[in-house]
Amino acid sequence: MNIRELSLLLKPEQAALVLDEQSRFYLTGFAASDGALLVTRDASFFWTDSRYIEAAEATVTDAAVILQEPNLYAQAEPVLKKAGITEILTEASRLSVQDLNNWRVNLRDYTYNVSNHLDLMISSLREVKLPEEVEKLDRAQRIAEAGFRATLPYIKPGARERDIANELEYNMKKNGADGISFETIVVSGANSSKPHGVPGDKCVEDGDFVTIDFGALYEGYHSDTTRTVAVGHVTDEMAKVYDIVLTAQKAACDALQPGLAAADYDKVARDIITEAGYGPYFGHSLGHGVGVEIHEHPFCGPRSGSILQAGNVVTSEPGIYLPGRFGVRIEDMLLVTQEGSRNFCRLPKELLVLK
Ligand code: ZN
Ligand code: ZN
Repeated sequence: MNIRELSLLLKPEQAALVLDEQSRFYLTGFAASDGALLVTRDASFFWTDSRYIEAAEATVTDAAVILQEPNLYAQAEPVLKKAGITEILTEASRLSVQDLNNWRVNLRDYTYNVSNHLDLMISSLREVKLPEEVEKLDRAQRIAEAGFRATLPYIKPGARERDIANELEYNMKKNGADGISFETIVVSGANSSKPHGVPGDKCVEDGDFVTIDFGALYEGYHSDTTRTVAVGHVTDEMAKVYDIVLTAQKAACDALQPGLAAADYDKVARDIITEAGYGPYFGHSLGHGVGVEIHEHPFCGPRSGSILQAGNVVTSEPGIYLPGRFGVRIEDMLLVTQEGSRNFCRLPKELLVLK
């Protein structure tokens, strides 16, 4: 579906060779573990094997769908010749050395561009979501939220972290998820100080913070949300830290608009946490892009060079993690719009103390 946009970025003598699974899916709208896409200015070709050919013919509209024979190179050669191609652009960050060698050995008459040129072209397209992509992200978010709401009653003293994670994943699938965006994070008490901790056999205890980072996959698009809830009661310090993270998270959401540098977006939240004295305990970036991959451009950290633009989908996820004690992270996923931003997430984010 995005093949045409890529073809417009190419010179007449260039062909883009796309073998990576996520990039192929993004460009064709067709999910398959195997396939090759060749895009030129005037025509595009998608090779896939017999397992996928029928479905591919029904889905891929912007490229000629070809049944892949054992020798793909022999099939590609006349296509490249006819189009007058001299240079093949490759995805340097995703193409294996073995695949590149195979192309070089089998199709010798071409220059292989192994710079990040094609990577940048594809990420510049992927960064700006089309309306149909936004719809899928919305749907993924609705599913994840329904799963989360259904799981809240399971979060109580005695519940194992891994059981809460399993319950949440089950509830997301029951509500229509094709899968999970990533391995669900459920960490409680002292474990919650690990930003990307793995749910284990620890049981939730009275007085714990429980941080839950979760997402649903829907038609190839991911959602990403984090909530930290308290169980039973909170200390004054826990409430204070939660409030600082919430203030920082909301301020970043409010500041999000086209033209804002991603590094400045990060700084909005980071300054609030730093001024409150917890700067050293917010070690990761404020956010990242989300789409056909859970982490994608634009990345929003202190060293990001990106300027945010309408159509970007990014997270706002500041956190404070006090080693060996507790941690808090709050994460929403937002769409940058012409006017500012729109939050995909409808879950409340005020401190929830489960009794
Ligand atoms: Zn997350
Ligand atoms: Zn995230």
